[in-house]
Amino acid sequence: MNRTHPLKVLKYCPKCGSAEFNTSGDRSLKCASCGFHFFINSAAAVAALVTIDSGKLMLVTRGVEPNYGKLDLPGGFIDPLESAEEAVKRELKEELGLEVKTLKYLGSAPNEYVFSEYTVFTLDMAFQVSAESVEGLKPMDDILDYKFYSEEELDYDDIPAPSIKNFVKDYFQSIKA
Ligand SMILES: [Zn+2]
Repeated sequence: MNRTHPLKVLKYCPKCGSAEFNTSGDRSLKCASCGFHFFINSAAAVAALVTIDSGKLMLVTRGVEPNYGKLDLPGGFIDPLESAEEAVKRELKEELGLEVKTLKYLGSAPNEYVFSEYTVFTLDMAFQVSAESVEGLKPMDDILDYKFYSEEELDYDDIPAPSIKNFVKDYFQSIKA
């Protein structure tokens, strides 16, 4: 198991502070002092494939770690008690000032990355989005820039997250068919 895996990193019970916080099965920790049982779950996240009539797809430049300066799809974590659809609309508004016209669920893919020397597991859910307008969008919040790409204009090596890279490949494959 990787040294950044939560089972390796978490040493104390987050509820009572006891050091008797022990691995229980392969994806949880249990406190021998207070009984608190902590599960290692995937965090739900959304990725938006904003497309325009020419078939070009929007990619954004990340302004936060991990992978600062690399290409990504716009999106982010789903807030507690929020739906995936609401998260897509909120993230596109926050990151670009974009208003969603229609959205369609495409599929999901697991992902993992290391943040603060701690492995984070996510489930990324992809949505195809058409915008009310793509005029006057402004990169804000977690992104530095955005651009619409044809597949020819894109180097897949510039997209580090495997789940995101696959969503993009699947999209361009779907419009060739
Ligand atoms: Zn405890």
